[in-house]
Amino acid sequence: MRVLFVASECYPLVKTGGLADVVGALPAALAAHGHEVRVLLPAYPAVRKALPDAEAVASLSDLFGGDGRLLLGQAGEKLQVMAVEAPHLFDRPGNPYVTATGKDWPDNHLRFAALSWPAGEIALGRAGDWRPDLVHAHDWQAGLTPAYLSLSGRARPPVVFTIHNLAFQGVFAPTLLHALRLPPKSFAVDGVEFHGRISFMKAGLYYADRITTVSPTYAWEIQTPELGMGLDGLLRLRARSLSGIVNGIDDAAWDPATDQALDAPYTARHPAGKAANKVALQSEFALERRATAPLFCVISRLTSQKGLDLLLEIVPDIVANGGQLALLGSGDAGLETGFRKAAEAHVGRIGVVIGYDEPLSHRMQAGSDAIIVPSRFEPCGLTQLYGLRYGTLPVVARVGGLADTVIDANEAALRAGVATGFQFSPVTTDALRHTVRRAIALFADRRRWRTMQRRAMASEVGWAGPSAQYAGIYRLLTSSCQAKTIA
Ligand code: ADP
Repeated sequence: MRVLFVASECYPLVKTGGLADVVGALPAALAAHGHEVRVLLPAYPAVRKALPDAEAVASLSDLFGGDGRLLLGQAGEKLQVMAVEAPHLFDRPGNPYVTATGKDWPDNHLRFAALSWPAGEIALGRAGDWRPDLVHAHDWQAGLTPAYLSLSGRARPPVVFTIHNLAFQGVFAPTLLHALRLPPKSFAVDGVEFHGRISFMKAGLYYADRITTVSPTYAWEIQTPELGMGLDGLLRLRARSLSGIVNGIDDAAWDPATDQALDAPYTARHPAGKAANKVALQSEFALERRATAPLFCVISRLTSQKGLDLLLEIVPDIVANGGQLALLGSGDAGLETGFRKAAEAHVGRIGVVIGYDEPLSHRMQAGSDAIIVPSRFEPCGLTQLYGLRYGTLPVVARVGGLADTVIDANEAALRAGVATGFQFSPVTTDALRHTVRRAIALFADRRRWRTMQRRAMASEVGWAGPSAQYAGIYRLLTSSCQAKTIA
């Protein structure tokens, strides 16, 4: 089956978060099920640079303020990329979404309409000669794809829409309806309207044939007013078309046995290299070089979602209990300052790097004993999966995909020999403090800790299982709603 992915980021071409990892890795896993996937992306400068040999396969005239072209290129061995070249919208420096000063580009509504519009054209066979059997749109930036297709009134392929994070919705002024090429009838509760404005996320949720999100627990949580971000009502209405599939990880890129970023490779059977990576990491973060100190790490956007304000509060407790912390991240200015100050106050015990550094994130996964993910909500989360694979035991909030991927080391799980990490609930400072203490206590029991590490490293975290579930959904949709038209 031919499948068109529509997304605003894709690793290794352009990445700001987990969405890119999924869009970059899932196509290769789907190829094992016989699917040919092409990923449609905006041709940001980074995408253009990664596709030097891309060829124009169609012209895209009148693309929201200028003409564009559809490019086709190959990124690495496995990734076929179609890129929307529209210099007036995408030829800009930096991050895909924000200006150098961190403000949303004022024309983001047009920029991402200009991603979804060509997706619709390709799917209807009006841009180039490759036509997908199914379209898979990701997150709000691609939310207009199902709307354009459904509202076209033409025979069209089925559309799957995946929510990677419901907190980002792409909501714009109602006056933009016409500029977005949406018909007046779509501005309704049964359409793109959301509290008097236009919501790209809602468009995706309303018009897609099938909705998925990135873990079963998150699929349930977003149907509640607490975590539904105002869309829980619609999600409850669509509950029969909604399911959760836990993300996998690219287990070739994230393999401690072959990871080029590491000082010393290691495996579950030959774990000695992990100790060498720990020493190197302690040096890199100016931490005391002590093998017996439990070394926690964090690799994260610094935002309120990620709950790192809770971690900041328990830093003195971690230090008092002999622990160390290495943190890599950027975002909220208050959190950046808070962690910098914590490092100054606890020299040799807390190390902080503010920034984004992919190779360093690999070295941290390899060199740390545990990774802390105290998110208030987490659709899936990837860093705990990398942690499992690298024998870096996850300490996670019991929410979303974190709840679905880590087995808490409570007494029953330890006795049954199934524990892979630590969970805490509710998401409070007290619960986090208690659980970090639990992890430190277990770390002191070297035999039990090593057993848990081996078990964590054996966890199924690749794409084989999840891609089979997506393939099942694709099969169902193409057999049950071939050339469906919802006008
Ligand atoms: P989200 O998509 O909400 O940011 P995820 O856990 O799903 O969270 O994915 C985050 C991805 O970004 C992971 O691959 C993680 O390793 C990476 N990442 C986050 N912050 C940094 C950073 N400062 N440097 C390098 N990689 C980072």
